[in-house]
Amino acid sequence: MSPAPALPLHQPLPGALHFTLDELIRSGIAQTYGLDNAPSPAALERLGELARQVLEPLRGRFGPIQVTSGFRSPELNWYVSLDRTSRHCRGEAADVRPLAEGVGCPRLALWAASHLPCGQIILYNYERGWVHLDLAQPGALSPRLYVSQGLRSPVRASTDDLARLIADGPLARNQPNETC
Ligand SMILES: [Zn+2]
Repeated sequence: MSPAPALPLHQPLPGALHFTLDELIRSGIAQTYGLDNAPSPAALERLGELARQVLEPLRGRFGPIQVTSGFRSPELNWYVSLDRTSRHCRGEAADVRPLAEGVGCPRLALWAASHLPCGQIILYNYERGWVHLDLAQPGALSPRLYVSQGLRSPVRASTDDLARLIADGPLARNQPNETC
């Protein structure tokens, strides 16, 4: 059993006014299957960085943001994606969607690509899609942007591609229930 998180679950993370530890580690799958999803001290530190550098700026720009998946223990990640490693397991990634009317995941992804210190930004462009964002690795130049539509795997995209996608709407209507 992992040690309990050293921070209060329901108070904002240090330097992040709007995001609590609970929001970043909560998982319906972990609850359903009784999986331990407590982050290590190192992952906890990275979750704080993620909240300060990525989530807070997104909230400042677009209003309330729902984190659909933040930290995942290796065991939880296995349940989610049949893989025991991902940036989520290091506390360096979150899947989010904007809650404000008329914002939408594509606009959020496009803005993030130009404004945030992300490594990968993956737009899962379903009707109720989400955006995966992870922290840039040291020395990385600019975020790599990918778009997945319908059931297709994500493909590399440019900000121009995404701007065209937003202009062309409406978006793909498939909505598989999965997380990246
Ligand atoms: Zn993800």
